[in-house]
Amino acid sequence: MNRGFHVDVLIVGAGMAGLTAGRELARAGLDVTIIDKGRTVGGRMATRRIGDARFDHGAQHFSARSSAFSAEVDRWLETGVARVWYEGRSITRPERGREARHVGADGMRGIPTELARDLDVRSGTQVHRVQDDAGSLRVETDRGAITGRGCVVTAPIPQLLQLVDFSTDPGLADELAAITYDPCLAVMAQLDGPSELDDGHAASTTGPVAWIADNHHKSISDVPAVTIHSSAAFALQHLDHDPAGWVDALTTAAAPHLTGKATTATGHRWRYSQPRTTRNDGSRGVRGSAPLVLAGEVFAGAKVEGAYLSGVSAAQRVLDRLA
Ligand SMILES: Cc1cc2nc3c(=O)[nH]c(=O)nc-3n(C[C@H](O)[C@H](O)[C@H](O)COP(=O)(O)OP(=O)(O)OC[C@H]3O[C@@H](n4cnc5c(N)ncnc54)[C@H](O)[C@@H]3O)c2cc1C
Repeated sequence: MNRGFHVDVLIVGAGMAGLTAGRELARAGLDVTIIDKGRTVGGRMATRRIGDARFDHGAQHFSARSSAFSAEVDRWLETGVARVWYEGRSITRPERGREARHVGADGMRGIPTELARDLDVRSGTQVHRVQDDAGSLRVETDRGAITGRGCVVTAPIPQLLQLVDFSTDPGLADELAAITYDPCLAVMAQLDGPSELDDGHAASTTGPVAWIADNHHKSISDVPAVTIHSSAAFALQHLDHDPAGWVDALTTAAAPHLTGKATTATGHRWRYSQPRTTRNDGSRGVRGSAPLVLAGEVFAGAKVEGAYLSGVSAAQRVLDRLA
């Protein structure tokens, strides 16, 4: 990418929103390149191997409430990339009744990996600046500059505000600056025996641990292995502390729920886990001379479903401008 190149549409972020937008735009016949600073695709839909164990350490499962996302999930179920993990009631929204909780059949990252299959995705590439440039968009990366006729940026809002030049639309930057996220601290722990969690999970609204999931019960780890997610309050308190302290505290707090004992424990910080408030505009165009569209779960009601819907919305917005 050193000499700089030109594409129809450049997408920043290979999470659910960016990959969905990329796939829709490629289907419409556009030349699309997706850039992500991570080593792999998926963003917050993340799966990791540690020794013999495998863990979903970001998003744990997803529900489908809109007809558009339900149709997409049905396709994933048919092709075997997703499956139903269990049916349950949300502890924060019990009025919704029992809903199917879907997971990636080979881990949550398996779904974005499948979406990326026929797309030009450049991982391990950090974007530093996205700028309106007299009829096109100029994107500066740590591997050189790229010019696009259009651009979609899907980074979480605090990161997006650092990247995008809002000089053509300063009011929008002020509006978005009000959006904040809860952090989450995750511990991936291998156990010396089965967790024996009912339905493979436990959730709590009090204490440092918000969620425990059994990755063996999810069928993604051959050996007993749990993911422990902290509460937002615990993460806010410990986010910038040495992981050794919070990994130990969360593992100890989770122990009474588990029959098997933790033999190894590794931490992961999610600085922008989930937005505290969301919008319902689907995606948002930035005023300027070329289509620059902001997308991500925060624009369409949060979670994996919101990210998908936002990706679809962003693609349509770009197509409308380029038509
Ligand atoms: C701990 C945790 C638990 C969760 N649990 C659930 C759950 O159970 N159910 C559910 O539905 N959702 C859950 N979520 C939320 C869900 O994962 C997200 O809503 C969804 O995956 C967001 O997708 P996205 O594409 O909008 O953003 P992301 O997945 O964050 O993708 C954005 C991408 O942009 C890239 N990026 C950012 N800045 C740059 C840059 N400068 N240059 C290049 N690339 C950049 C990032 O690397 C990332 O890959 C959870 C999230 C976390 C963290």
